[in-house]
Amino acid sequence: MKKTEQCKLIKKTEIIPGIFDFVIESDEISKAAQCGQFLHIKCGDKTFLRRPISICDAGDGTVRFIFEVKGEGTEELSDIPEGGYINILGPLGHGFEIKDYKNPLIIGGGIGVFPLYKLAKDLGGEANVFLGFRDKSRVVMEDEFKAVSGMCVIGTDDGSYGYNGYIASAMENYIKDNPCGVIFSCGPAPMLKAVKSIAEGSGIECQLSLEQRMGCGIGACLVCSCETIFEGMNRYMRVCKNGPVFDSRVVKL
Ligand SMILES: Cc1cc2nc3c(=O)[nH]c(=O)nc-3n(C[C@H](O)[C@H](O)[C@H](O)COP(=O)(O)OP(=O)(O)OC[C@H]3O[C@@H](n4cnc5c(N)ncnc54)[C@H](O)[C@@H]3O)c2cc1C
Repeated sequence: MKKTEQCKLIKKTEIIPGIFDFVIESDEISKAAQCGQFLHIKCGDKTFLRRPISICDAGDGTVRFIFEVKGEGTEELSDIPEGGYINILGPLGHGFEIKDYKNPLIIGGGIGVFPLYKLAKDLGGEANVFLGFRDKSRVVMEDEFKAVSGMCVIGTDDGSYGYNGYIASAMENYIKDNPCGVIFSCGPAPMLKAVKSIAEGSGIECQLSLEQRMGCGIGACLVCSCETIFEGMNRYMRVCKNGPVFDSRVVKL
């Protein structure tokens, strides 16, 4: 059984308005963390349920996560000052599986890019990375991803920076001439749907990280159940326990 831990917030940065980059101290979580896993965070006194936030990076006794302020929970979390303590349960969930893939490709959108950073690092800086954002003002972590990837393409939906249009289209064009062995993805549902369809249409293995509202985070309450197809049968799986990362062929989007 995972224990909760009081973790000291040692670095806090608002990287763009409404998006906070937190580094906490925890030897245990730092050692155990795998890319694609998440932390279940007690945001403060006002919010009863914990909120799931992906591990962006981990090592040397610290863990980094980045979140957008969406509602009451993330608002409370963003108010915690440097030096304050955060109650964290984790690392939780089934993350990305790294095998001996040739030419791995990573594609992320919006706040879905955060768990992909540790993945890009763990892939040894060899993955080609595609990151999409709404517009130029929402582009984050560009230089950091460039430092841990082969090629890194940034796109914006409105064309205000980088590739003009949905990032899944940029990836689709790229893989026509540059075959890849696996696609890893995290982002908004329409993007994941496009990525799944492109990967499966091209016969490429694909791992998708899903976001679902969660309750307990440890597989007990079933709040985050999602419909999947497993061994030819419709089946409900728990995003917190069986996921958040699934083989695209299992997921119904
Ligand atoms: C496995 C996992 C990993 C995540 N990782 C990150 C991360 O790294 N960074 C980050 O910014 N966010 C991440 N999220 C989303 C984050 O958990 C939600 O934004 C947060 O729980 C909202 O809580 P709140 O109290 O601020 O907002 P609420 O008041 O609970 O909700 C505010 C708004 O956000 C929407 N919302 C709530 N939960 C989710 C959710 N799970 N997915 C999509 N929309 C939601 C609600 O529908 C509502 O419109 C992740 C979610 C999951 C399931």
